[in-house]
Amino acid sequence: MTAPLRLFNSLTRELETFHPVHPGEARVYSCGPTVYNYPHIGNMRAYVFADILGRTLSWKGYALTHVINITDVGHLTDDADAGEDKLEKAAAERAQSIWDIAKHYTEAYWADIDALNIRQPARWSVATDYIEPMLAFAKEIAPKHCYELDSGLYFDVSTVADYGRLARASTDEGEGRIEAVEGKRHPADFAIWRKTPPGEKRQMEWDSPWGRGAPGWHLECSVMSGKLLGFPFDIHTGGIDHREIHHPNEIAQNQAFTECGSLDDAACSGARVWMHNNFLVERSGKMSKSAGEFLRLQLLVDKGYPPLAYRMMCLQAHYRSELEFSWDGLGAALTRLKRLVMAVEALRAQVAEPVAEPEGGWTQLRAHDELDAVFLPYLARFDAAVSDDLNTPVALTVLEELLALKKADPREKLVAAAAMDTVLGLKLTTLTRSDLRLRPKAAAIAEAEIEAALARRKAARAEKDFATSDAIRDELAAKGVEVMDGDPLGWEWKLGS
Ligand code: AMP
Ligand code: ZN
Repeated sequence: MTAPLRLFNSLTRELETFHPVHPGEARVYSCGPTVYNYPHIGNMRAYVFADILGRTLSWKGYALTHVINITDVGHLTDDADAGEDKLEKAAAERAQSIWDIAKHYTEAYWADIDALNIRQPARWSVATDYIEPMLAFAKEIAPKHCYELDSGLYFDVSTVADYGRLARASTDEGEGRIEAVEGKRHPADFAIWRKTPPGEKRQMEWDSPWGRGAPGWHLECSVMSGKLLGFPFDIHTGGIDHREIHHPNEIAQNQAFTECGSLDDAACSGARVWMHNNFLVERSGKMSKSAGEFLRLQLLVDKGYPPLAYRMMCLQAHYRSELEFSWDGLGAALTRLKRLVMAVEALRAQVAEPVAEPEGGWTQLRAHDELDAVFLPYLARFDAAVSDDLNTPVALTVLEELLALKKADPREKLVAAAAMDTVLGLKLTTLTRSDLRLRPKAAAIAEAEIEAALARRKAARAEKDFATSDAIRDELAAKGVEVMDGDPLGWEWKLGS
């Protein structure tokens, strides 16, 4: 009846049937943001993906524990050991405290999470809250797996089996890694603890057996995931860039800590499944945080696009495909979202009792119990799509087919659509068309003024006073507003670009 959940495991490069470590549960860790700047919409794609994964696990009936970390220390400007700490650098440039910077950008990130209707994880784990456990972890693995240099404590990647398998790189290749630290035994060796150079004072530093300093970035994720979810947990997620350095290094630390052997047993990596979303790309390259101006969610909002149009854009692509951002593409996603919202609004108008998203979420089984037989094939196809490595592009088309069904009971149809939306997270049970109207911040005319003019025009047309009606249309056109009579999507006006 329900399809088995199959997920692509980057460690084995295979689609695998999901078997939870703890029956009935799903424990997921997602690498979170480094809070030295605003997240760009590419970063947010990683959390939309993790959210769809979490929602799908809930849909399949698993009790989900999701942890997302907040990196406020340790992440260097280069993922390998080169460069400066991103937060120290931002604080120095802006003459601000690191703590203020971290607080500001964490809150900005949470606002984006909220705007994209990404569910709150069970826990946001903040790296600096875990310094003691990081020191304990490092002390535990240091004797067998680490060596000390003047600059810090380093992990010797030759001490664990199958180093780099996730990246398909070997110890000696050290793919993508720059030999930036003198004395490293292998190019791929990485810092567990970075000592503060003599004579320097950092804003964030702690005492350790290896001198005053700060933890390496990879250490924090091993420590927080292991502590909060227990090794091995079910699924570890991140963007595809993390497949190359960050996650192979986490895996090496986890193997050392758990004294587990070959990665032929995936659980030795610390998580049974490693999943990576592909990148959102933008031709001009503006998205990159380091290139000055970049595409963040607020820019979309300022140009008038509701954030959920971007969520829709993400869902239209499979998470493992590259997705190219364009304003036209975003506009098309908005139109598609609007069609869905209009269809659901029409159903809502026919149903006396409001149908809310059910408390505690849905499972595929529950939907099955509560719905009329006519909807079951749609639910089964929807389930098959999301169970097939989170195939949201197909799942969306199934929802659209369901909404296009003629002669179906509107209440049941609404319940089925609401059930599907627990996975898609498009807020279909509450959104209205007017929520989706383009509202550019730079518009020269207020919406209320447009609506008032259109109401006058409607009255004039009712009186067959076409001269006044045309005059009002021309006045609006002069102010950049195009009146759209008979628009199939129900837009009454749009702002000219
Ligand atoms: P960061 O804050 O740089 O650590 O990145 C946060 C998350 O966003 C990580 O999982 C990255 O892998 C992911 N990420 C970074 N750039 C992109 C992009 N252009 N598209 C999708 N995911 C990205
Ligand atoms: Zn991480």
